[in-house]
Amino acid sequence: MEALSCMMKRALDKGLYRGLKCGSEGPVLSHLLYADDVIFLEEWTTLNALNLSRILRCFYLVSGLGINLSKCCVFGTEVNGFEKSQLAMVLGCRVGDFPFTHIGLMVGRNMKGVNAWGPVVELFRKRLTRWKAKQLSFGGRVTVPEGVMDKLERLRRLFFWGGSEEKAKMNWVAWDKIMAPIEYGGLGLGRLRDVNVSLLAKWWWRFKNEKGRLWWKDDRVVWLGDKVGGFSVRDIKLKIVANVYTEPEFVFDWNRLVPRKVSFVAWRAVLDRLPTFVALAKRNIPVRSNLCPVCDELEASVEHIFISCGLAQSLWCVISQWCKMPDFFLFSFRDLLEVHKYLRLSSIKANILQAVCLIATWCLWKKRNDLVHSGVPIQLPGLVQEIKVLGFLWVKNRGKMTSLTWENWCRFKV
Ligand SMILES: [Zn+2]
Repeated sequence: MEALSCMMKRALDKGLYRGLKCGSEGPVLSHLLYADDVIFLEEWTTLNALNLSRILRCFYLVSGLGINLSKCCVFGTEVNGFEKSQLAMVLGCRVGDFPFTHIGLMVGRNMKGVNAWGPVVELFRKRLTRWKAKQLSFGGRVTVPEGVMDKLERLRRLFFWGGSEEKAKMNWVAWDKIMAPIEYGGLGLGRLRDVNVSLLAKWWWRFKNEKGRLWWKDDRVVWLGDKVGGFSVRDIKLKIVANVYTEPEFVFDWNRLVPRKVSFVAWRAVLDRLPTFVALAKRNIPVRSNLCPVCDELEASVEHIFISCGLAQSLWCVISQWCKMPDFFLFSFRDLLEVHKYLRLSSIKANILQAVCLIATWCLWKKRNDLVHSGVPIQLPGLVQEIKVLGFLWVKNRGKMTSLTWENWCRFKV
């Protein structure tokens, strides 16, 4: 494609191709490239079209890259249908109509209306399973109306909680908290609005500073970010984040030895956002009784399930013995998340102990759900075995501890 750009530039210089001039001071545009998509811009003359098809022919002869003209379209502004079909005939392609879609965005339509964004919303909906925030990067060059942002954000939220547009599921953690950066106690999903603003700012920056570009004017702007004079999307994102969120007193530590789904349960537990009987009753969801189905003595709250219930106490006792540590003194769920910090362990061991506590929390939660939903009784030895097996698998692989053997793991020789 670089070669095609060179050819177009030569053709412009030699006057064989007449592009579009942008304003009196602006450059002349002949083509726009994106991956293997090209848009040619030209003055509406038959000679221009003929020369373009000659250039494309030469390009084919030197590069071997043929252009399938039957897949190409001619778009004209302020010319009638007859003129369009004439020029399409010269080029051997079809006549196209505005608006059309180019790299996911509508071209030739007023993008200020929410309706015009329908295709983008639709694309989002279709791609939610392999969603990337970068999906919107093309939206960065135009202002995305507020209503559209809300729609897209709503789709992300529905997707996250596993609901659909017809049937929303209960959102256990506020969406703002989920979007919040990890350093601010969130899940770090980020807000679409911030991505949009950062990218817009980048365009604004280029608009003001890049000489010879389409939009260049002679008034330099200096970005007072961390790098004096330079601009980075990262800087602006950090600045937005610092404005939007306040630092929490407790920051959840996402241990890399375990999958996110495992830490996620502990993250929700410390925020008291797990669907325990107590939490369900609080949200007016009928539960038969909010007593713990394991001990039948106390209310099944997060603190009870993971800390004060007899089953939990036995579990932490077995785990502290397995890991050759003194008994854990746990008064709250948060203590469990921090126990590895107070045992004077090497950083590797502390990390592994933290992972074990997260895995145990996850397994205990799963087993309790099996008990509630399917009546499967919980056996402590089975629970401990599952924690050990999963711990071995994840610590060895995710921690790249290739020499770790099962025997050593069972003796906590790590
Ligand atoms: Zn209990």
